Amino acid sequence: MTTDRPFPWEALLDRLSELYRAGDWRRPYLGDHAEDPFQVLIGTILSQRTRDEATDLASARLFARYPDARRLARAPTRTLATLIRPVGFYRTKSRTVRRCAEELLARYGGEVPRTYEALVALPGVGPKTANCVLVFGYGIPAIPVDTHVHRIANRLGVVRTETPEETEAALRRTVDPRYWIPLNPLLVQHGQNLCRPRRPRCDACPIAGLCATGRALRRGRPPPRPADGPPGRSGAPRGRPASRPGPRRQTPSRPRTSAPRRSPRTRRRPAPLRRAGSR
Ligand code: SF4
Repeated sequence: MTTDRPFPWEALLDRLSELYRAGDWRRPYLGDHAEDPFQVLIGTILSQRTRDEATDLASARLFARYPDARRLARAPTRTLATLIRPVGFYRTKSRTVRRCAEELLARYGGEVPRTYEALVALPGVGPKTANCVLVFGYGIPAIPVDTHVHRIANRLGVVRTETPEETEAALRRTVDPRYWIPLNPLLVQHGQNLCRPRRPRCDACPIAGLCATGRALRRGRPPPRPADGPPGRSGAPRGRPASRPGPRRQTPSRPRTSAPRRSPRTRRRPAPLRRAGSR
């Protein structure tokens, strides 16, 4: 279910892009792996139910030895499990990524397909992973919805949904395709830094004026309820005015002291965000 009022997506994306352009912010895993469809595909499978730091470490170890489908398809699963051990469910994922590489080799000559339908037919690939490959691997407009995008879209008040799948469908109906490509990386980064699952930093948020939750908290009112659920579901923060910061809050200007280590492969700057239609 969506609200009827138009939403200023361009202003929101511009403000987030400006905020995260510089500074020692946490960065989305995929922001450093853009434009390599195979690594986006396998890295996103590894990232399921796993912290970004663990995904980064495991994928760097994996791709250092098996950088393409041809080599990964022939790798011993026991070796794969050892390499990707930092991620959750590493034994299952070691079998999944190998089967995925075998399918790529058998059906596409080792290339990653470019259509949603072909991608979701691969082992271990669901809607989010398929959409990530389209956006980050190929620059094709799509809306990958993970927990960050689902939570923030509900907090903004642009959707009222219970599941990421509902959120994706609602966003596809309401967001102009010009904004689909930058939407995920910016909202994910916002979810990692300010609009966190618990204690969002509404007081420091540059899009608070565009956000139903931010506006409500600034007025000392409880945030709007997500659809069909009590406050707190879909990540809606409970009603604490922005003027009352919670304990152990991190100021956005303070450098992180525990920034995730990046492998040499991931230290390169990511490709600039591309808006739909720019390639
Ligand atoms: S105002 Fe608060 S809830 Fe809204 S996007 Fe910003 S941090 Fe998230």
